[in-house]
Amino acid sequence: MNKLGVHALVWEAGWSHEECARAIAKTAEVGYDFIEAPALDPSLIDVDFTRRELEKNGIGINFSLGLDFDSDISSGDPEKGRRGKAKLEEAIAVCRDCGGQYIGGILHSAFGKYTQPTTAAGVAQSVDILRQVAETAAKSNITLVLEVVNRYESNVLNTASQAVEMCKRIGAPNVKVHLDVYHMNIEESDTPSAIIETGDYLGYFHTGDSHRGYMGSGSIDLAGVFRALVRSGYQGPITFESFSSRVVGQPLEGILGIWRNLWEDSHDLATHALMYTRVQLKAAQEAQRQAERSKLV
Ligand code: MN
Repeated sequence: MNKLGVHALVWEAGWSHEECARAIAKTAEVGYDFIEAPALDPSLIDVDFTRRELEKNGIGINFSLGLDFDSDISSGDPEKGRRGKAKLEEAIAVCRDCGGQYIGGILHSAFGKYTQPTTAAGVAQSVDILRQVAETAAKSNITLVLEVVNRYESNVLNTASQAVEMCKRIGAPNVKVHLDVYHMNIEESDTPSAIIETGDYLGYFHTGDSHRGYMGSGSIDLAGVFRALVRSGYQGPITFESFSSRVVGQPLEGILGIWRNLWEDSHDLATHALMYTRVQLKAAQEAQRQAERSKLV
C-alpha cells in the first residue's frame, strides 16, 4: 500500500513551532499518512518539537531539499562539494531524529537555473559524494531519492532514465529515483513509459498537475500516470505537491516561479488531492484486475 502524503507548503511557508504544529495537525486531520517538510536549511528544524507533534497527531514525516549553488556537489569544486556533503548529512540527522525514512529533492546538484550544461566531472563528483552520504543514511535506514526536475531547476537529472543511470553509478540500495508528474510533463517524451521503465528504481513520487494547482484541473493525463504506477508495482510514498502565491516565501517562490494564486483554501485543496489520489489508485488497480480477469479460458 502506498503511503500518501502532502507537502508542507500546502499549509505553511516555514517551520516555526506554530507553523510546524499547524501543518502537522491539518495533515492528520485531512487523513494523510505523512507530511513532507522542506529542509532547505536543516538547522531551522526543531527535531524534538517536530517529533512530539508527529506523535501527538499520529502521522509520519519525510523531507525534501535542494542544494544551493554554494553547496553544489556537481560543481567540480571540492569546497562546494564539502559544504553540500555536510548539508546532506545534516538533513539525514534531522530526518533520523524526526523518525523519517526518505529524503528527496535535488540532492544531486544545485536547485536553480544553470546557464551551462553539466559536465562528466561534475556528475562524477555528485555520484562520489552521494555514495558516501548514502552510507551515512543507511545507518539510520534512510533512503535518498533523487528528484528528476525540469531544465530550469537542475542541469543534472531532467529525465527518469538519467536518474536510473545515476542510481546505477552510485550503486547503493538506499539511493533511488524520485519522480514528479509536473516535471515529467515538461521533460519526458512519454510519462507512463518513463514510470514503467524506471521500475524498481522508483522510490518516491510527487503528484500534482501541469500548473501545480488542483489535481485534475490541469493538462496532465493523471489516469495514465496512476495506471503506470500500478502497472509498475510501485508501493512507495506518493506526495501531493502544490504551490500557490497564497502560501509561499523566498527562496522557493523565486526559484520555482510561484507568481500566481492557484488556490485560496489549503484544506479544500489537500482534501480534494487525497480523494483524487485514492480514486485514481483504486481505478488503476481495478483496470489492472480487469486485464487479469479477462484472460481467454
Ligand atoms: Mn517535486
